Amino acid sequence: MNDFIFKENELYCEDVPVKEIAASAGTPFYLYSLATLKRHFNVFDESSKVLNSLVCYSVKANSNIAILNFLFKMGWGADIVSGGELFRAIKAGVDTGKVVYSGVGKTEAEIEYAIKSDILMFNAESLPEVFLIDKVAGRLNTKARISFRINPNVDPKTHPYISTGLKKNKFGISIKHAISAYETARELKNIDVIGLDCHIGSQLTEISPFKDAVEIIKELLDRITAKGFDIKYLDLGGGLGITYENEMPPHPSTYMNSIKNILKNYGGKVIFEPGRLIAGNSGIFVAKVTYVKDTGSKNFIITDGGMNDLIRPALYEAYHEIVPVIKKEGHKIKADIVGPICESADFFGKDRVLNSVSEGDLIAVFSAGAYGFSMSSNYNSRPRAAEVLVDKDKFYIIRNRETYADLIDKEIIPERS
Ligand SMILES: *Cc1c(COP(=O)(O)O)cnc(C)c1O
Repeated sequence: MNDFIFKENELYCEDVPVKEIAASAGTPFYLYSLATLKRHFNVFDESSKVLNSLVCYSVKANSNIAILNFLFKMGWGADIVSGGELFRAIKAGVDTGKVVYSGVGKTEAEIEYAIKSDILMFNAESLPEVFLIDKVAGRLNTKARISFRINPNVDPKTHPYISTGLKKNKFGISIKHAISAYETARELKNIDVIGLDCHIGSQLTEISPFKDAVEIIKELLDRITAKGFDIKYLDLGGGLGITYENEMPPHPSTYMNSIKNILKNYGGKVIFEPGRLIAGNSGIFVAKVTYVKDTGSKNFIITDGGMNDLIRPALYEAYHEIVPVIKKEGHKIKADIVGPICESADFFGKDRVLNSVSEGDLIAVFSAGAYGFSMSSNYNSRPRAAEVLVDKDKFYIIRNRETYADLIDKEIIPERS
């Protein structure tokens, strides 16, 4: 994370003081470092080269088109989960031949859009979905390429809301039903079965669940291959965790090397779909302290950013490091750092000890580059924050702050008689 660093007592992003950006862009805002993004790109890209691989960045982690454009220009494809993400990816210049489409609820309109865009493949999550893809492809006089997302039933040992590879989850098809799903799909006129896919969860900090999943999937791959299928793409999803507090997630090369051996006799391409790992620590969230409030039993630092901007603490009880942008001498204060929203879950951190903080000061919430802005909303009719990208000594607004007019832009008061 060393592109967000203190020089003297002041937080910088690369060569730009965060305070300067706040003065120009207003608060709250998301701030991304291109140098960090590049470094994460390079580490993952290099590591993945021990296998014959294609990296499809998971658009939902951070879907700003400036971020996407950078990654696509470097040669990566995209893992998308909606028509809206496909639209973004295309606007950001993706090679649609490197797009994989995941998700349990693809609609007919979304499927049509993806087929017309000639994406690499659908990661199908049920047979009804495959029947619909077949129907749409037939109507368009073409064939659609698919893989099946298989649920290997391994415990990723992460927060239950971001675990996706257990029997009880809604995702994918069970191992038990896998072979019959492949055989059913093979009979469909407008379907080309070319892949096998899994994604077991997010923010994994251990190798063992990945290894377990890959072993189970490889065993299935062998059985499918023996049935005469040519599986050209083995998609292993995303999920590698990052450091928010003191987690020690495995290095991507440790991960790749640990699965390399399991896949040694597989001749096709291996797809990876990293999201959080690339974007998470490439960004921070910056807000301004509106009030410091002492209720008698507790201190609250109330900021102009809220859970509508960054929902991870409220949704997953996620930990984010929080620091004042300018370190001041003076009394330390123990407080909850909260937003202005009318919900008790509207907090960024609880019982944190910070250097002296007063009204008007800026605070930085670290590790906010993934599932930050992309999960933000207009709850409490709050315009969504600006997004800013730093490259060395320059910064660029990559999304303007929303205005009040934006809030009601699509709303209509009906004329009634
Ligand atoms: C969310 C998601 C990813 C990315 O997960 P990270 O933990 O951010 O790497 C990859 N693939 C699929 C199918 C997903 O749903």
